[in-house]
Amino acid sequence: MASIRELHQQLVSKERSAVEIAQEALNHIEKTEPSVKSFLAVTADHAIAQAKQVDDKIAAGEEIGPLAGIPIGIKDNMCTKGVKTTCASKMLENFVPPYESTVTQKLIDAGAVMVGKTNLDEFAMGSSTENSAYHTTNNPWDLACVPGGSSGGSAASVAAQECVVSIGSDTGGSIRQPASFCGVVGMKPTYGLVSRYGLVAFASSLDQIGPFSRSVEDSALLLEAIAGYDPKDSTSLKVDVPSYAKSLRPDFRPKGKLKVGVIKETFGTGADKAVEEAVEKAVELLQELGAEIQVISCPRFQYGLPTYYIIAPSEASANLARYDGVKYGFRAEEGENLLDMYCKTRAAGFGPEVKRRIAVGTYALSAGYYDAYYLKAQKARTLIKKDFEAAFAKVDVLISPTAPTTAFRAGEKADDPIAMYLSDLMTIPVNLAGLPALSIPCGFDEGGMPIGMQIIGNVLREDQVLEVAHVYEQAAEWYKRVPQILA
Ligand code: GLN
Repeated sequence: MASIRELHQQLVSKERSAVEIAQEALNHIEKTEPSVKSFLAVTADHAIAQAKQVDDKIAAGEEIGPLAGIPIGIKDNMCTKGVKTTCASKMLENFVPPYESTVTQKLIDAGAVMVGKTNLDEFAMGSSTENSAYHTTNNPWDLACVPGGSSGGSAASVAAQECVVSIGSDTGGSIRQPASFCGVVGMKPTYGLVSRYGLVAFASSLDQIGPFSRSVEDSALLLEAIAGYDPKDSTSLKVDVPSYAKSLRPDFRPKGKLKVGVIKETFGTGADKAVEEAVEKAVELLQELGAEIQVISCPRFQYGLPTYYIIAPSEASANLARYDGVKYGFRAEEGENLLDMYCKTRAAGFGPEVKRRIAVGTYALSAGYYDAYYLKAQKARTLIKKDFEAAFAKVDVLISPTAPTTAFRAGEKADDPIAMYLSDLMTIPVNLAGLPALSIPCGFDEGGMPIGMQIIGNVLREDQVLEVAHVYEQAAEWYKRVPQILA
């Protein structure tokens, strides 16, 4: 499937219609879904109707934006008016939102064509999409492996070319880690750059929405379309959104000025050898391309994981209190009294990982333990942020592997939550500090599974992150490889 720019060209030159493009995506989805299973729901009628509107505009001689007529997948934790939004949970099995999330509204306004709602770990809690209450998703590069998570469906759908781009959410790595596992680009923007209105809340001080694509340029275009101030989200930043795509250059400008820091603590701590080697090679290439390389120490980086697993469950325990069988969503039928009904609803509606998080979070926030856990974690969070601040006083962007491993086999870590949590070792500190970061393919392991490199930027320096990623991508050309199922 072509890029956003190519498809846009085909549309404006009337070489193809938006309906034809949508139909092609839907046909491909029909072929690939039985093996990949990226989607919880394919919204074919919806897609054709949206595509027709784009064609009408073109026929009327109206100008269309770059995203008009572009097939897109939406993670099923974003509210879509009139279209079921399940969050991959039994709790929201029949939830049809009466309103549209800001991000999907912006995409509708831009003329993007939603082909389906993508699979995820229940309430975005997980790193493999195996926690979905409905089905698992398979990695297009090896169907026996997981696609990563929690936005596994969004990552797999783009890797399998079932859509051109997709939208995911990232609380501790849920865009970047699956992007790494599926060999695509995935970006988490600065906290507050993209509105979270209508995103089903997991951990509100960490959640961010962002793009998946096969090229950096497509992520830049998609980010432009979804970013910007929204009065409906009180954490939304009042900033102008630059044209990220227009400022992409084939080389580093000004020459010799870009400073890249490699985070020392993300090497030699148990990551796969193939992963470390691929990222080191990528750093060498960046140097050849004119970047100045420094080794940077972020000594408190290692506390990210334990800090996150206090803060995220604490916030989740509060956010998920709303699923009580009364307001909306699933309700267990039998209950002797109100409390009994609450308990039965939550026991049957939530899966095991979600319950684990609620239990941990409730415990950490309880009167006797609040200071020892939650408050302590908040302090550690500040220290992690300070490490980044010190680093960005010296360099423009930071580099690390995205994940310590490549995609693992389905079932391999399903019964070991700690092993699963370790997948996000490199990505979590970035959420704690609210920074933008992107994962870009930087090679393959011996088994042919993709490896991702994480590029972290300073607050609101999405432009620099995208610039480095774009220059690397054009030189390294990993995008030329596609999964076997497409060959
Ligand atoms: N895998 C991490 C978790 O399980 C991150 C999830 C996410 O970013 N939504 O919490």
